[in-house]
Amino acid sequence: MNLDALFTLNCGMYILCSGTEKEPSGLIINALVQVTAFPNQVIASVNKESLTHKAIDRSGVFTVSVLERETPLQLIGLYGFFSGKNKAKFSNVKYFIGKTGAPVITEHSVAYLEAKMVSKLDAGTHFLYLGEVLEAEFLNPELKPMLYTYYRDVKGGKVPRTAATYHASPGEEQGVFDRYRCKVCGYIYDSRYGDPDSGIEPGTPFDDLPFQWTCPICGAQRDQFEQV
Ligand code: FE
Repeated sequence: MNLDALFTLNCGMYILCSGTEKEPSGLIINALVQVTAFPNQVIASVNKESLTHKAIDRSGVFTVSVLERETPLQLIGLYGFFSGKNKAKFSNVKYFIGKTGAPVITEHSVAYLEAKMVSKLDAGTHFLYLGEVLEAEFLNPELKPMLYTYYRDVKGGKVPRTAATYHASPGEEQGVFDRYRCKVCGYIYDSRYGDPDSGIEPGTPFDDLPFQWTCPICGAQRDQFEQV
């Protein structure tokens, strides 16, 4: 069996939110699909260890923002690698309170939907929430949605960035590059591409990264990286 075959299934990058203005909760999910059109229903898979599934259970509603292709790693990291238990996830992001009373993230979002929970299935590590769509609208229709494969391979540093921000780096001809993997989240720093989301120019060797640089996704310190 080759589990990599499952990476050919299309998944997106979404911020799912629930709760209320007073007690907002949100996290990154990649498994979300529209399953019926009449009525309009989606299924969202939410990790049981998250606070957000408890917020869905309490409020009976959730919202989903579709992240755009060039969403900075820091935003993905904030909702993907930190728990609301020890990090304020809503203090520095743009959102509004939707008609369901739950927050809707607007920054770097192509579109959003709001749903009320219809039923819930226990899937082991995750709960699957079936929700009826009550609202859906574009936020930034000119942007392209990010696919999970793009996040994993390109933003995560596993294959070259094809993003518009990519420029050939000074070391390109000499072939002097280094690659370091974050032992916490798997992000790869590739000096060929730098870390544009953190203002690091292509061609910056790992050893020349500023002292205060941390993993753009999970915030790990540099000593948590190993050369690959
Ligand atoms: Fe990391």
